Amino acid sequence: MLKIGLTGGIGSGKSTVSTLLTERGFEVIDADRIAREVVEPGQPALAELVETFGMDILHSDGTLNRGELARRAFVDAEHTELLNAITHPRIREETARRFAAAEEAGESSVIYDMPLLVDQGLQKSMDLTVVVDVDIDTRVSRLVSLRGLAEDDVRRRIAAQVSDEVRRTAADVIIDNNGTPAALAPQVDALVERIRAAEAAAAS
Ligand code: ADP
Repeated sequence: MLKIGLTGGIGSGKSTVSTLLTERGFEVIDADRIAREVVEPGQPALAELVETFGMDILHSDGTLNRGELARRAFVDAEHTELLNAITHPRIREETARRFAAAEEAGESSVIYDMPLLVDQGLQKSMDLTVVVDVDIDTRVSRLVSLRGLAEDDVRRRIAAQVSDEVRRTAADVIIDNNGTPAALAPQVDALVERIRAAEAAAAS
């Protein structure tokens, strides 16, 4: 089974591309969704977070108050490490479980939709790395106008991720999303052809 890494900076349109691939029949493993699921009520990681950071990281309905957790965990490297030690192993296990399930289901390839793929060096374990690329100013203006985020917040988040240059260098395929959403479909179709060719080569 081929592993296809799909990544891009915040606001690049990675989720939009992921949806187009789902529509074309691909199984997508969504890293953000897994990160949310491992801290849902009832999950051991949530109980451990409460033990470590206090009851106040919960909303009154028992779900995680991410803002409060961030305020308590990102104060220094030591607290951030405590947070990571609780969540990262669960995320890794669940991700491995999803890859194994896709393989067992007989998928010829699976898409790993992961914003921090290159930041974490995970492109090395992918057969193909796809980067959705957009100029920073365009990303900022889309996130501000379409998602209602504050410009300085968006720029801070972009600065905390690897640069577009580093991400592009890691790419086997670059999807240019500086144009209209309609311009994505033909690029995704070309990507699908490339994946199908790689599947055929792997099978022969
Ligand atoms: P990401 O998952 O990379 O953060 P999204 O796919 O959510 O990015 O895209 C960010 C925002 O930009 C969304 O509101 C999306 O609908 C919009 N968007 C994506 N591609 C385009 C495009 N080519 N032109 C205009 N808006 C776009």
